[in-house]
Amino acid sequence: MTTNAYRDTRLLIDNEWVDAADGRTLDVLNPATGKPIGRVAHASRADLDKALAATQRGFQAWRNTPAHERAAIMRKAAGLVRERADAIAPLMTMEQGKPLAEAKVEVMSAADIIEWFADEGRRTYGRIVPARNLAVRQMVLKEAVGPVAAFTPWNFPINQVVRKLSAALATGCSFLVKAPEETPASPAALLQAFVDAGLPAGVVGLVFGNPAEISSYLIAHPVIRKVTFTGSTPVGKELAALVGQHMKRVTMELGGHAPVIVAEDADVDLAIKALAGAKFRNAGQVCISPTRFLVHNHIKERFIDGFAARVQGLKVGDGLADGTTLGPLANARRISAMTKVMEDARQKGARIVTGGERVGSEGNFFAPTLLADVPLDADVFNNEPFGPVAAVRGVDSLEEAIAEANRLPFGLASYAFTRSLSNAHKLSQDLEVGMLWVNQPAAPWPEMPFGGVKDSGYGSEGGPEALEPYLVTKSVAILNA
Ligand code: NAD
Repeated sequence: MTTNAYRDTRLLIDNEWVDAADGRTLDVLNPATGKPIGRVAHASRADLDKALAATQRGFQAWRNTPAHERAAIMRKAAGLVRERADAIAPLMTMEQGKPLAEAKVEVMSAADIIEWFADEGRRTYGRIVPARNLAVRQMVLKEAVGPVAAFTPWNFPINQVVRKLSAALATGCSFLVKAPEETPASPAALLQAFVDAGLPAGVVGLVFGNPAEISSYLIAHPVIRKVTFTGSTPVGKELAALVGQHMKRVTMELGGHAPVIVAEDADVDLAIKALAGAKFRNAGQVCISPTRFLVHNHIKERFIDGFAARVQGLKVGDGLADGTTLGPLANARRISAMTKVMEDARQKGARIVTGGERVGSEGNFFAPTLLADVPLDADVFNNEPFGPVAAVRGVDSLEEAIAEANRLPFGLASYAFTRSLSNAHKLSQDLEVGMLWVNQPAAPWPEMPFGGVKDSGYGSEGGPEALEPYLVTKSVAILNA
């Protein structure tokens, strides 16, 4: 696969791929080389107006399509995504950097997510409520909220779109997404599968451009009835405030800083194996990435030695190259961010067990890093590092670990390793998080709720809870006069 196979990306409006009205485009860079590989159309106000009109028409068509038929089209799209995985995955690796095998998993799991939501959409039941007058029939109807505006980031170019898209389509909403300008081709391939599966025109739309201009215009626009965003907490708070001014429904999937509690009674080898895989997936650019490792002092050195050996076994390189297990960071901003995090950690007295610096001078490669004895005031223990770094700190008790886990304003994912059922119960009750995985890496299956609490946002992108924000409730009482 060469970079010649990369495609330019246009805007998707009314099931047609079109250039921006004013012809504007942006470069797309390969993070493994830092060099341009293609271009993406940059929407102007005129393009957004066309996309909004299309999404309004698309909503009328889609809400009037029976749930059974909607599910059939979604299932067909899932099949096409699966069939095309070998063609879509390299696009993602070229624009985002992750190893090809990880890109392939992301594409295949997208098909799984679409299918789960297709089926769940057929079960958006209302209810009949016994009336106080026998001549009255009281009904609770669940209806699609309306056209959705979605804003998705570059770390999982397909996964971040597909969870929102699938919930919207399953409930009868139309869906206009501003996907990431840095990684446009793979989400475009996802939407192409829906067009090819027979989705009516306007039901999905895809735009790129200036994120702040597009979000402020779409959020305020009367056509849009629901907003969903994944990205950093500061941007999420700005957008949530704007959404509030316009009284629209909203889901916010924001930053995390996942604590990892390795208890004194943990299976240390299991913890090392599970966490080394989870930590360096997508070079740590994952909102649920294990980040603050709180390891009991009695097993800390054993954990650090075993984890360091795993880290040193990772192969850093271009995600398309055979054997690569850690690709480049997705953009140059992440290299500067990681460099700053390391300087701060060094200054505050953390021990760099392995890694800690950029690799080479071409592309955005950063060595997988293990920090030990990290002080609580180090930046890496307070702000989401969003990179390939594990920061370890010893603790003397489960209580101390829980207090540290809950110290930060974030509450997205968390992990724990323990052989004790009572520890597991205590953790499940006391951690202020949206998700907890015990003795295993993350398993964010579509049937399980996915979302955070506190500054990590609100709403869910998995399980039946993921459909609720796309539905409105209507109470109807009919008197048989
Ligand atoms: P950023 O905070 O500016 O952007 C994050 C995402 O939000 C990007 O996709 C960007 O296009 C989008 N965005 C930014 N401003 C926007 C606006 N006004 N309207 C709509 N969308 C907007 O910075 P970044 O450098 O891309 O990422 C930095 C941090 O963001 C990371 O360190 C991480 O903490 C967080 N992030 C989180 C996720 C996640 O999965 N929750 C994904 C990507 C980035």
